[in-house]
Amino acid sequence: MDMIKWLLEKLKGMYGEMSEWWPGETPFHIAIGAILTQNTTWTSAYKSLQNLIQAGLDTPEALYKADVNILMELIRPSGFMRQKAHYLKNLAEFVCRDLKCRLENLRYVDNPREKLLGVKGIGKETADSILLYGLHLPYFVVDAYTKRLLSRLGIIDQKTYYDDIARLFTENLPKDVKLYQEYHALIVEHAKRRCKKKNPLCQSCLLKDQCLVGKKEDQDTQDV
Ligand code: SF4
Repeated sequence: MDMIKWLLEKLKGMYGEMSEWWPGETPFHIAIGAILTQNTTWTSAYKSLQNLIQAGLDTPEALYKADVNILMELIRPSGFMRQKAHYLKNLAEFVCRDLKCRLENLRYVDNPREKLLGVKGIGKETADSILLYGLHLPYFVVDAYTKRLLSRLGIIDQKTYYDDIARLFTENLPKDVKLYQEYHALIVEHAKRRCKKKNPLCQSCLLKDQCLVGKKEDQDTQDV
């Protein structure tokens, strides 16, 4: 779909080139962060990740053996501590049991996404974040920002499935990890800077002429 390429160019026009933004020193840090950021901001997730690193619980082996109550305290900043502590332990168990304690080995198995989705606590967005940012594999991450933007542009509706949204990107762009990372980063930047949930800043948005919300706002301004 040309809209996907059009959108990329417009976002670049507003925010310029974006570099890889998901912080983490190891693929496993990125996987931990992908779980911790569920239902919270990245800033909160990052604080929890730093606590785990300082406590030496940032490797699959250490996390697998960690006491769940200690884990819960360390990840308190990112909320849902009990649930996320168990999800982290599930991830660590999977990596130790099936991947010889190295998440990187997931690159060499068939259907890595299916394997991740088999871990309780890892959904599609989390799995794709781990694959794209942690393992540099060409999976597109669809998050709430992506859904909000595409639905405002009329490209999807509320009922469009996750995998269909991801396919819009993967089938209309070159299979390029850096490009997928940059596109996702641009969408996040746009959602934070302009396309907010409430009171989006449409007047300065280059997408306004194609956007259902932007056009309505224009109309409302003219009617005043
Ligand atoms: S015009 Fe407004 S609602 Fe539409 S994409 Fe731009 S900022 Fe978002």
